[in-house]
Amino acid sequence: EGDAALLDAAEEDLELDDVEAPRPVLAIIGRPNVGKSTLVNRILGRREAVVEDKPGVTRDRVSYPAEWAGREFTLVDTGGWEVDVAGIESKVAEQAEVAISLADAVLFVVDATVGATATDERVVRLLRASGKPVVLCANKVDGRAGEADAASLWSLGLGEPYAVSALHGRSTGDLLDAAMAALPTESAHGGLRPSGPRRVALVGRPNVGKSSLLNKIAGAERVVVHDVAGTTRDPVDELVEIKGVPYWLVDTAGIRRRVHQTSGADFYASLRTQAAIEKAEVAVVLVDASVPMTEQDTRVISQVVDAGRALVIAYNKWDLMDSDRRPFLEREIEKDLVQVTWAPRVNVSAQTGWHTDRLVPSIERALGSWDKRIPTGRLNAFLGELVAAHPHPLRGGKQARILFATQASTRPPRFVVFATGFIEAGYRRFIERRLRETFGFEGTPIEISVRVRE
Ligand code: GDP
Ligand code: GDP
Repeated sequence: EGDAALLDAAEEDLELDDVEAPRPVLAIIGRPNVGKSTLVNRILGRREAVVEDKPGVTRDRVSYPAEWAGREFTLVDTGGWEVDVAGIESKVAEQAEVAISLADAVLFVVDATVGATATDERVVRLLRASGKPVVLCANKVDGRAGEADAASLWSLGLGEPYAVSALHGRSTGDLLDAAMAALPTESAHGGLRPSGPRRVALVGRPNVGKSSLLNKIAGAERVVVHDVAGTTRDPVDELVEIKGVPYWLVDTAGIRRRVHQTSGADFYASLRTQAAIEKAEVAVVLVDASVPMTEQDTRVISQVVDAGRALVIAYNKWDLMDSDRRPFLEREIEKDLVQVTWAPRVNVSAQTGWHTDRLVPSIERALGSWDKRIPTGRLNAFLGELVAAHPHPLRGGKQARILFATQASTRPPRFVVFATGFIEAGYRRFIERRLRETFGFEGTPIEISVRVRE
């Protein structure tokens, strides 16, 4: 009897709050030692031990989910990044540039006890050029005495310097309130699809062949940007025409500019990769087929999945493969990619151009899945049959019933399932597998969340 009422309630629920917008991105930038990591820890409530990271140790993450005053956002942390003292100035600027391009708003940290340095001034110029909202943090103001130092930072021309002590928590609430006010409610990246060519990121760890592939596909067919109407251009992106179809290859400047190996280069590469992924709709992850897969390769793939972008995996340097090694390699690859069996895979050689023409069809398939919406009627017909044939396992004499499901959003597809009780992770994976088999979501991550209604 109650089912109809439950369904009504479920549908109402959805209308209220279920279409998730991409979280806006706040990047924290500034010179080394100004207190960025300390501030990040304070914002995250020390959930992540960022400051304790040893110098030179590769960090897994550059961004963290965060929340302030009920607002959720993504925090990009550039702290703890070890720089070469010799090249310090240009490094800071380079790093800041990447973080700025990734962000919807920037929290710029200056050490008030030191005052504005030439490097700070350089970052200010980058910030101005970006046009992004900026909140200026005058850090290390541990007491009233330091407030005059903070006030002198008005000279940077970035508006009010917020005098805080990241270490003691002094006034950090006011700073975050200001940052939230500066942050748009929704990220400019991802989610909504602007008109114009689709955005593709070419990512992978150093030396897998990104620049070779870029040259191969962008080489002769570079287009003049002004030819395509209605496109605003980020200087680091490149418009490439492949078989007559234009694509934005995002952050190609990062590929073309060789990042030299210094300590911290891993982190830098990771940040750059994250920036490219966030800007893209689909990421092509290049893997070097001539050497065993590394943790770094897996991490890049996870970054794409976590960001909710469409994914294509390209095994490069296939020309180096002996034909007798291939069957073995195929088995290895299947094992390595067990988490993302849904991603289209192409074997290519960026050097010879072999099979690079297979990239575009895979990219298009992945984007098609990423955009796909299953009508609620079809979805529930599918789910009804599935549940009838394979009910959720009985636990403690009770059986959770699945009532209804709907696709709350696309890019990537997100589903919400309403049930009368807890749905086990294994059963959720089973639903995902069947959804993929039935509707063919090749190349896109999909998310399933469960709402329990008593
Ligand atoms: P990062 O390199 O910008 O990430 O800087 P860290 O967060 O690692 O901080 C550098 C040093 O400054 C550490 O020794 C911190 O304890 C110290 N520090 C950070 N914030 C403050 C602050 O508000 N007041 C004082 N006195 N020291 C701070
Ligand atoms: P990136 O760091 O990812 O941009 O990698 P590069 O494009 O600079 O390539 C790294 C090295 O691998 C260079 O020496 C390339 O010539 C080589 N390379 C790239 N693609 C291929 C390929 O398909 N086959 C072979 N044999 N070598 C390749």
